Amino acid sequence: MIMADKKLDIVPLSGWGMFTDPRPSVVAGPCSAESEEQVMETAKGLKELGINVFRAGIWKPRTHPGCFEGIGVPGLKWLQRVQKEYGLKVATEVASEKHVAECLKHGVDMVWIGARTTANPFLVQEIADALKGTDIPVLVKNPVNPDLELWIGALERLSRAGIRKLGVIHRGFSTFDKIKYRNDPHWDIALEMRSRYPELPFFTDPSHLGGSRDYILEISQRSLDLGFEGLMVESHCNPQVALSDSKQQLTPEQLKDLLHNQIVVRESDSDSKEWRENIDQLRAKIDVIDESIIYSLGSRLKISRQIGEYKKNNNVAIVQAARWDALMAKAIAIGNEYGLPEKFLTDVFNAIHEASVEAQNEIISGKSSEQ
Ligand code: PEP
Ligand code: MN
Repeated sequence: MIMADKKLDIVPLSGWGMFTDPRPSVVAGPCSAESEEQVMETAKGLKELGINVFRAGIWKPRTHPGCFEGIGVPGLKWLQRVQKEYGLKVATEVASEKHVAECLKHGVDMVWIGARTTANPFLVQEIADALKGTDIPVLVKNPVNPDLELWIGALERLSRAGIRKLGVIHRGFSTFDKIKYRNDPHWDIALEMRSRYPELPFFTDPSHLGGSRDYILEISQRSLDLGFEGLMVESHCNPQVALSDSKQQLTPEQLKDLLHNQIVVRESDSDSKEWRENIDQLRAKIDVIDESIIYSLGSRLKISRQIGEYKKNNNVAIVQAARWDALMAKAIAIGNEYGLPEKFLTDVFNAIHEASVEAQNEIISGKSSEQ
């Protein structure tokens, strides 16, 4: 059963006492705390570039056993040094009530729930129960699977436990498809979350989403263009030797260049600038939709080619008029409900049909094979 959205009782980011800079609000630090030296050196570099909130994974959810699974509780002492010596707020991932208890004991300033954990309501509930009565900020990463309701369910559990400094991190969704990023961005899901809960502070994690430092700029820019307020970026003093996620971390120096010289932050401090920001956000949304149209058209053509092969093997003609008439009538009926003019839909579907017939023709005539 789908529950109606209830407004979440949220403290805005400006009231969290951690993000003083204008947009974007940045959380940065290594994927994993590896050694005291690595933590301190990275924190020093990040402090120098004006970062306020330092992240470091203490317990790491790794795909395969035998990989570096995090330094555990001793690393929390290093985070305390970061707080004391550099005045940074510190954040880490929690995946159990035991992790929460250790974080609270060691004065961690903020926690986040990782993508694998958000997918598990038992664990989210356990974490929410362990956080009851505290006012520690909590960021919830999207679940690994593209399930908006599961993501929202995690927020509801924390909200019911009294957590009001609540935000989300978009880090993309696992996919078996070959795409250029490590995870499928599904910006449509992120936008749906934003439109259902506009009051919810929204971070994007370009490191985990892209899986490569080469994509951090483009993903961060898109996130800002869509109007999201924060970034969580992995940064390591020497990414090449990182014990986890070495390809997707920037040095503090590279992060400085990205934030100070590369990223374009749209301001909104005058009427015309506000217009600019709105129009840029709307265009960014259109871009997301256009990409998903292209993706859908590509998937459709691929299936058309498979059908072409199948027709060829079974010696069946390409054009099946009755099937096409039914498809067109259905498209027009559905389109009607969405306010799409009949002529427009007919033109679009005729063009799609033409491309399909052409692709199947090539297959049957032996000019091309299904790809
Ligand atoms: C992380 O932030 O280090 C992490 C494990 O991320 P995710 O949960 O997004 O995979
Ligand atoms: Mn990581």
